Amino acid sequence: MTDNPSKFWDMVPEAAVHIDALMDLFRQACQRQGWTLCAERGLIGWAEVRCGVGHEFSVRAWDLVSGSRPPSISPSEPWCTKCRKADWVAECLAILESAAEAQGVELTATDEQDESGEGHVVFAATCPKGHRSQLSGRDARSWRGEPVDILCPDCRVAARAAEGFAKIEQVLRETRSTVVKRYRNAAEVRCRRGHLHTFYVDSPDGRDAIRSDFCGDCGRLAQFQEFLEQAKDLGITVLESQWIAKSRAHRAVCFAGHEFGLIPNKMKRGCPECPRGMYGGAVPPHDVYYVVSGLDVTTGKETVKPGISSGKGYNRLRQHAEDGLKAQHLRIQGLPLGMARALETFVLAGLDRKGWVSTRGVEYFPAAALTDVIDLVGEWFTAQAGLSTRPIVVDAGDILEAAGTPGSPDVVDLDVDTAVVFDSDDLRAVAALTR
Ligand SMILES: [Zn+2]
Ligand SMILES: [Zn+2]
Ligand SMILES: [Zn+2]
Ligand SMILES: [Zn+2]
Repeated sequence: MTDNPSKFWDMVPEAAVHIDALMDLFRQACQRQGWTLCAERGLIGWAEVRCGVGHEFSVRAWDLVSGSRPPSISPSEPWCTKCRKADWVAECLAILESAAEAQGVELTATDEQDESGEGHVVFAATCPKGHRSQLSGRDARSWRGEPVDILCPDCRVAARAAEGFAKIEQVLRETRSTVVKRYRNAAEVRCRRGHLHTFYVDSPDGRDAIRSDFCGDCGRLAQFQEFLEQAKDLGITVLESQWIAKSRAHRAVCFAGHEFGLIPNKMKRGCPECPRGMYGGAVPPHDVYYVVSGLDVTTGKETVKPGISSGKGYNRLRQHAEDGLKAQHLRIQGLPLGMARALETFVLAGLDRKGWVSTRGVEYFPAAALTDVIDLVGEWFTAQAGLSTRPIVVDAGDILEAAGTPGSPDVVDLDVDTAVVFDSDDLRAVAALTR
């Protein structure tokens, strides 16, 4: 039954002596393990053995006599995988059986074992919904080692998908997005600005990606908005209507009217034509709030654009007119420090809340939003503590009327000292800030 290993190799007698010695060591190791050696296959062939408990398996002699802790030298642990794993297998089986009972899964033992080689018995399983599957103790734990919540693979897939779809519903509510198409394992959605995106529910990664910040295009818009705000902090108005890239120049105009390319990565310098150092200190603030509209030559859409500028605002308004936004509905000049920005932020947030979606960039909207824009301006002025307004600003109807028919070049030109009354003690401080 045992072959002489030297017959397997044609080798010099000096080597055969060592091989024989190693094979002896192997046989001793088998003895210590209490194994029966059924078929010997040399030093590197797969010998067939049977352990003391009756597990049959194959080992390579070389593996038993080499390595850092070979069983031939330190037989403290059984080398037989099934003997070594017996406790683990029993533990897994206990978890499987209790989970099956709790979940109403019927288990019928087969005489097969799973491919792990650890000795897990395979069961034929039937879940309460009638799904059939094959389960072993290993299936009772997740890859993290925790007991799985749902044993039946079909039921588990269905539950995960349901979880994913519920998460999608949540995101839809949070982001005011809509489903375009549903699939068995996915949903195509349209964000409220119209960008398309597909969510997948059939993988952990896919389900993780179901988040309210899912829309990359909207993310870029948010990044653009942040850039606009940072520029405004420097008294700079970005003319570019959309985000290009962090390292690329975006058309911009400084408060002094110089046009230049503003690079988001290199904001600090400000306008290259203005004196150096100016942007470290106090920059004249935006003090003009305006609303213009017209046929936007960039998008070809009837558009309303609320915005802020400085000085008399004419430069900015001229640029808008060149872009087709010729009708001016509102121009409030001489606003005290920070007010134009605050008003603008309020109006943009209000338009977003009312569901208006920009036609380009983040500050251009469909012309139909004009009434909401004027309403929001009135609302903001009304809510300012220590600041009340004459009816012309509060009453949006008056303003729209004064603006005349769309396309008319009439301007409602409001100066703070005529349209806005300050009745707090801040009056002088405010007066000093306005020119
Ligand atoms: Zn064994
Ligand atoms: Zn099932
Ligand atoms: Zn989007
Ligand atoms: Zn400048």
